[in-house]
Amino acid sequence: MNSKAKDKKYVASTYGRFDLELVSGSGSLVYDENGKEYIDLSTGIAVNTFGLCDKVWQDAVSEQIGKLQHTSNLYYSSPCADLAELLCQRTGARKVFFGNSGAEANECAIKVARKWAQDTYGKGDYSIITLKNSFHGRTVTTLKATGQDIFHTDFGPFPEGFLYASANDTASVRSLLDENKCAAILIELVQGEGGVLALDKKFVSEIASLAKERGVLLMIDEVQTGNGRTGSLYAYMQYGISPDVVTTAKGLGGGLPIGATLLFDRVENTLSPGSHGSTFGGNPIACAGAISIIKRIDEECLAGVRERSDYIFSSLSGAKGVKSVSGLGLMIGVETERDVGEVIAKCMELGVLPIKAKNKLRLLPALNIPMEILQKSIEIIKSVLA
Ligand SMILES: *Cc1c(COP(=O)(O)O)cnc(C)c1O
Repeated sequence: MNSKAKDKKYVASTYGRFDLELVSGSGSLVYDENGKEYIDLSTGIAVNTFGLCDKVWQDAVSEQIGKLQHTSNLYYSSPCADLAELLCQRTGARKVFFGNSGAEANECAIKVARKWAQDTYGKGDYSIITLKNSFHGRTVTTLKATGQDIFHTDFGPFPEGFLYASANDTASVRSLLDENKCAAILIELVQGEGGVLALDKKFVSEIASLAKERGVLLMIDEVQTGNGRTGSLYAYMQYGISPDVVTTAKGLGGGLPIGATLLFDRVENTLSPGSHGSTFGGNPIACAGAISIIKRIDEECLAGVRERSDYIFSSLSGAKGVKSVSGLGLMIGVETERDVGEVIAKCMELGVLPIKAKNKLRLLPALNIPMEILQKSIEIIKSVLA
């Protein structure tokens, strides 16, 4: 049986896979089982931050594998402490909780918000406002936090306490705050799965003020937008806001499973011993990979992200067959005249691998994709869309 047949027979049928098996890769190039080369424009959904089998990342991970692959959280280990220090130094956060995925990072944020509100106001102020069209994960609670009805159909009963406001509509957030006892507002700054939509700066700054005024936490889901993806280390840094909690995952580990919940001043001491945990959280190998990723996201790297972003926006905006281009940095959505499924199939045939978000073509290239490879891929996309 080949891998495709075996996968269909034995792997739970939760994914609609493309008819393509990936075998190896190097930087922004990836190869299938027949040796055909593709330009990777999705990086495993914003995970392989510096591309495939990147040497610096590989060395950092290999070195740690040779030392200690795992220890329980009953002991100290330096990669976990070093990564937490680095994240705090680069963001101003006070403490970090490590898990293994985006959903877990958000799950931790939700627990923090509920406990903080209970500690601060007493029982009952537990509601969390999220936005319609958001995506926050696949656990039962983060599904409920996700503001899309389609995710609320099959797995109920869901935990209570989530309210959905409209994006870019300050009045809708205000009225939910007026009518309910709330603990927090949780938002993505660029709705990724929702169609790569960047929130308006004015809206974000207004709801940040509202959160302060009403004494609720501002929590930013940077699972996808984080770690350099949008042209700043974290997207909130471009929005001029000071969040209380920031969650991240995807690109943080550069290809290894890790999630982080960054806790700022107000919630620094909300979690106490025994109140939360994760067997694999802070795993030394995942942390060693993440340290190498975060250290490389400096001003030069971020300038490169913005340069590549400008190139993609200017090449595709107004191009034949393009209705609109949205997003921020190297998190880009392209609304096409042609059916997006057909566009992706044609791109794959021509050796380019974009993915989709809702009805849009989604581009998430490596932060350091070589300019000439990026140009080649964009020319191919343009030829498919025209
Ligand atoms: C991908 C994603 C998640 C879920 O992350 P997992 O690692 O798949 O659990 C949560 N929030 C956002 C914004 C995401 O893009």
